[in-house]
Amino acid sequence: MTQKTKITVAYGDGIGPEIMNATLRILDAAGAQIEKEVIEIGEKLYLKGVKTGIEPSAWDSLRKTKVFLKAPITTPQGGGYTSLNVTTRKMLGLYANVRPCQSYHPFVVTKHPTMDLVIIRENEEDLYAGIEHQQTNEVVQCLKLISRPGCEKIIRYAFEYARAYGRNKVTCLTKDNIMKLTDGLFHKVFDQIGEEYPDLEKEHWIIDIGSALLADEPERFGVIVTLNLYGDIISDIAAQIAGSVGMGGSANIGDACAMFEAIHGSAPTIAGKGIANPSGLLHGAIMMLVHIGQADVAAKIHNAWLCTVEAGIHTGDIYKEKVSKKKVGTEEFADAIIERLGGTPHLFKTVSYLSAPRPIYSREEATQTKAKKELVGVDVFLDWDEGTANDLGRAVEQIRTETLKLSMISNRGARVYPDGLPETFCTDHWRCRYVSEGGKPITHDAIIELLTKMRQAGYDFVQTENLCTFNGKPGYSMGQGE
Ligand code: NAD
Repeated sequence: MTQKTKITVAYGDGIGPEIMNATLRILDAAGAQIEKEVIEIGEKLYLKGVKTGIEPSAWDSLRKTKVFLKAPITTPQGGGYTSLNVTTRKMLGLYANVRPCQSYHPFVVTKHPTMDLVIIRENEEDLYAGIEHQQTNEVVQCLKLISRPGCEKIIRYAFEYARAYGRNKVTCLTKDNIMKLTDGLFHKVFDQIGEEYPDLEKEHWIIDIGSALLADEPERFGVIVTLNLYGDIISDIAAQIAGSVGMGGSANIGDACAMFEAIHGSAPTIAGKGIANPSGLLHGAIMMLVHIGQADVAAKIHNAWLCTVEAGIHTGDIYKEKVSKKKVGTEEFADAIIERLGGTPHLFKTVSYLSAPRPIYSREEATQTKAKKELVGVDVFLDWDEGTANDLGRAVEQIRTETLKLSMISNRGARVYPDGLPETFCTDHWRCRYVSEGGKPITHDAIIELLTKMRQAGYDFVQTENLCTFNGKPGYSMGQGE
């Protein structure tokens, strides 16, 4: 007999306890070898004043078992509560969000009866770093941070996932025609790592047309890998067009820990009525079983679930007069699955799982080599509202050091000095780019000297960004029109 694997379980809020009970009953009946540790999370803690929705002691259980099966929770509106999901992902390093989106035609209404894809979303970086600042009266900013190790981890995971689950195509979605450095890095790493997977078909689409294709012809995709924000948006689009937001499961995978859950929320309006569909959480639990090496139990449950759905035994949310045979509640639905354990579906394809792709990342093996970095200039951002771009340009041109002189000014990215256009709308947020003659390396002291002179001249600098080259190539974007 397989040794029992310890897992941490949270029953959550709203329909959480009902669907968790049903899910655990099915897992037990199928012979899952798990030992549960229960932790409290969610609304009760938020209302007690725990802003994160999780007690510090719960982390001990999560760090010990490293596997978290989580029911949905209710986040009270207002009150500055932080998202438990975002906290858990960051704290436990869960860098890959895996969301299979499949249609279950004809039982769940969809325009895409053969859709069957998996979205693998980067979970830790991008605009979700949550680094935001108000810099001037008119301008706020959010930092988009993308790292090479972050890209390597998620992209390798996507290729490994495709191989492990017999999917022959991996599609990368970015916006690297605009964000050449950040999204460009993601795309470049996709191309580099993709070379190690000659057996898999690879493609890249710009996110806008890629999303349009996803909404129109989802059948053309197998595995999609993308950055955090795009992944967030397209995984909801995909779940919606599959017709099964209430049925999808989601896995959040890291090197050490993993969290499994349903896509949907705590559905407070139907809580306690015994009518919720436990399928989303069950699919999360199936992914968990594959992850902890109990792929056979996972397949047994998945096939029993398919048998139940094709037998027309449906919870109210998917019940349809003409296709369904029996409307059941949460517990009865779980019983129907338990009865069918060991069965194989007739209409749907039988599911089999081999093993979960193990996230593999090691900094030592990373493809990154340390580039030669040289400081060649600085962008100084000013909060200024005393005139036109030409007024500012003529004034700050006079401020220079032995090595640094003004090359241009931009406003919200567009060059406005020299030779700006009067039509360009300007805010109170100006970027003054100072560069060295001929791109020669400069010192940090030159930047400090420049800033001192700007301060003495009465300018309010709100941010500086060093301009560096890496192996001689600029590590910064040009101003639009520069
Ligand atoms: P929701 O997913 O809870 O509900 C959306 C709709 O789908 C509702 O009509 C609901 O009744 C229905 N529904 C959802 N799951 C169902 C199921 N298993 N069976 C049958 N019907 C189901 O989304 P919401 O109403 O926007 O959010 C409610 C609460 O859930 C909020 O507090 C929100 O913050 C939270 N939430 C939590 C998570 C999570 O914990 N991972 C995710 C999303 C939302």
